[in-house]
Amino acid sequence: MSDPRVLILGGTTEARLLADALAATAPHVRVTTSLAGRVANPAARLAGNVRVGGFGGPDALAAWLRQQRIDVLVDATHPFAATISAHAARAAAATGIDHFALRRPGWPADPRDRRHPARSLADAAARLVVLGGRRVFLTTGRQGLAAFAGAELDGLHFLVRTVEPPEPPLPRSIHILLDRGPYTLEGETALLLEHRVDVLVTKDSGGPATAAKLTAARELGLPVVMIERPPAPDGVPEVPDVRAALSRLGFSPAAADTCP
Ligand code: NAP
Repeated sequence: MSDPRVLILGGTTEARLLADALAATAPHVRVTTSLAGRVANPAARLAGNVRVGGFGGPDALAAWLRQQRIDVLVDATHPFAATISAHAARAAAATGIDHFALRRPGWPADPRDRRHPARSLADAAARLVVLGGRRVFLTTGRQGLAAFAGAELDGLHFLVRTVEPPEPPLPRSIHILLDRGPYTLEGETALLLEHRVDVLVTKDSGGPATAAKLTAARELGLPVVMIERPPAPDGVPEVPDVRAALSRLGFSPAAADTCP
């Protein structure tokens, strides 16, 4: 295939690193990264073309893929971005183009972890009631915090860390920390101690940038309510990292090592 066209559905570190690696190793490949447009200044530091905003559903995405004559669709969205992944699978099937997902593995459990699995944000909120902790470190992102705003959780204090300000409704007693990883074990331990956190709530996002909170919680003996990933679309091949994605696209995985 000469001058192939690749669409990366992005919004993750891996999507950015894949675009960087393709720009460095295969400048003839026409790469477009698609972003949902949830954060300010989203196109910063992205190699190749960038488009921003929803497509308007799977049929519109399929039409866009045809119109742009895309050859390969890489779903490198966050493991919890289930809607766009489902749409990508449907659009790829409708157009017949090559399609795979670049999805980082979840965090492996350690025997010393005090993990409490939850199926959803609402389920995590219900588990907090049962666990009986009073000071919660909530790292599930800025959306959906209404799940923790119910009267049954009024006695709890929430330390909420997000990249951009969270959307109301919010818990009644809340301290908002705007920050972006990567985080260190020292920093996470200090944060948990400073805020006297006694339970952590997180999605099983995986990846090294935000893993230190789990090690810190483990070392401090804190329980972790871990929200499990939504199911991935059936039948979509999956690779775990940028190196494997480059191989899948027919390029040397070594290109991943040249990018910052
Ligand atoms: P979602 O629920 O799966 O998608 C909702 C809608 O947003 C989709 O139907 C699509 O609109 C649009 N959309 C999502 N990702 C898009 C993309 N990369 N390019 C163009 N349109 C996109 O998504 P979400 O969970 O809100 O996440 C939004 C973005 O943030 C994703 O790109 C994801 O990678 C990133 N992100 C998500 C999380 C998380 O915890 N969910 C965490 C970090 C980053 P149309 O139907 O109109 O096409």
